[in-house]
Amino acid sequence: MSELVVMKFGGTSVADPEKIQRAAERAIAARKKGKRVVVVVSAPGEMTDELIDLAHRVSPNPDSRELDMLMATGEQVGISLFAIACEARGVGATSLTGPQAGILADAKHSKAKIVEIRPRKIHEELKRGNIVTVAGFQGLNPHRDITTLGRGGSDLTAVALAAALGAKHCEIYTDVHGVYTADPRLVPDARLIPRISFDEMLELAGAGAQVMQSRSIEVAKKFDVPIRVAHAFDRHSPGTWIVKEVSSMEDALVTGVALDRNQIKVTIRDVPDKPGMAADVFDMLGKANVNVDMIIQSAARGQSNDISFTVPKDDHENAIKALETVQRRLKTGSIEHTVNVAKVSVVGVGMRSHSGVAGRMFRTLADNSVNIQMIATSEIKISCIVDKADGERAMRCLHKAFGLEKTRRGYAAR
Ligand code: ADP
Ligand code: ASP
Ligand code: MG
Repeated sequence: MSELVVMKFGGTSVADPEKIQRAAERAIAARKKGKRVVVVVSAPGEMTDELIDLAHRVSPNPDSRELDMLMATGEQVGISLFAIACEARGVGATSLTGPQAGILADAKHSKAKIVEIRPRKIHEELKRGNIVTVAGFQGLNPHRDITTLGRGGSDLTAVALAAALGAKHCEIYTDVHGVYTADPRLVPDARLIPRISFDEMLELAGAGAQVMQSRSIEVAKKFDVPIRVAHAFDRHSPGTWIVKEVSSMEDALVTGVALDRNQIKVTIRDVPDKPGMAADVFDMLGKANVNVDMIIQSAARGQSNDISFTVPKDDHENAIKALETVQRRLKTGSIEHTVNVAKVSVVGVGMRSHSGVAGRMFRTLADNSVNIQMIATSEIKISCIVDKADGERAMRCLHKAFGLEKTRRGYAAR
């Protein structure tokens, strides 16, 4: 059977009719080479943000099922327009929603996981010779309701489809040339990374490098699906390969830096200092579907501790609601929260075998008068919470301190 390709076009790549036509031409070129083509399409432009905003103008706290139903319509606009553009060029195309494509998800609204893909209808359409456009970011849950897969979730749809359909790799087309040592919009001398391991990409994505959704990388790693990220409209875009391993020759001490401005810092004062308190707090947050990131518990003062942690901005309302219950049940002190923070991180597999990265990071921030509020580390990542106003500057000076603008393996961004 002929080769099957899965291509994903992000929102910026289908933001207007002309871009949709150009993206469609790319899919048609692959089809004309005899390949079977599955295209995952996102909601055009800022449509998802606009839909969320619309819901909040109707209600301050929209129902999660209805919000998913609403958000999913953005991708439906994308797939149908894409198929219309293909048909207009004389090439057969059929659009499928996530449920039609057999994407089955769990019941967690707004951040569902894909549990299974039953791609019968995709195969039928491919057999007819059609390009199949599939709505990203959505699936059908066990109650037969539409759920969405978390912001940036079209990446996850694409990688999961590539795995389920047995594609050799997954092609992600976006508005930059690939994965850079930092967001090229914030750090002008960022360099393109030709190859990066799943582990490093997972940490970079989790640290806020929006170019790939982190859960899509988890799936790529689990099923060993190599990903190529490239510019949607530049056929000569060198792109980045995200793969299982990069040779040790290619290892850098630090591969990239990332900034996440979508975090909120929460502090619960005077949590009683006895076993089980932290478990109760984070159990309740877990049940409220809140993703907790960095956690710090201060040394006990008298009979109590303060616990601080960060949560994504999207989980703000759920977190506060859950914490009000925590406050009543555990008789804690006040709950404080601020949006005025940013997380800056450095990532690199080189940290496994070299010490001194943390010291250099903290020294660089200190030399640039950036105060560190929280620190968290993993084997290959160090993250600091800083004042939001310092975030971009912190990222630029760390990029420079680790010499990323002159990495040998990269290409200049511009
Ligand atoms: P799409 O609409 O194609 O899904 P996104 O906006 O989700 O695109 O992701 C692409 C954006 O990610 C880029 O425009 C860039 O500003 C941002 N970005 C953040 N960090 C990085 C990075 N390390 N490398 C490349 N792009 C990055
Ligand atoms: N449209 C969704 C979002 O904006 C999914 C995606 O673009 O990947 O998050
Ligand atoms: Mg995206």
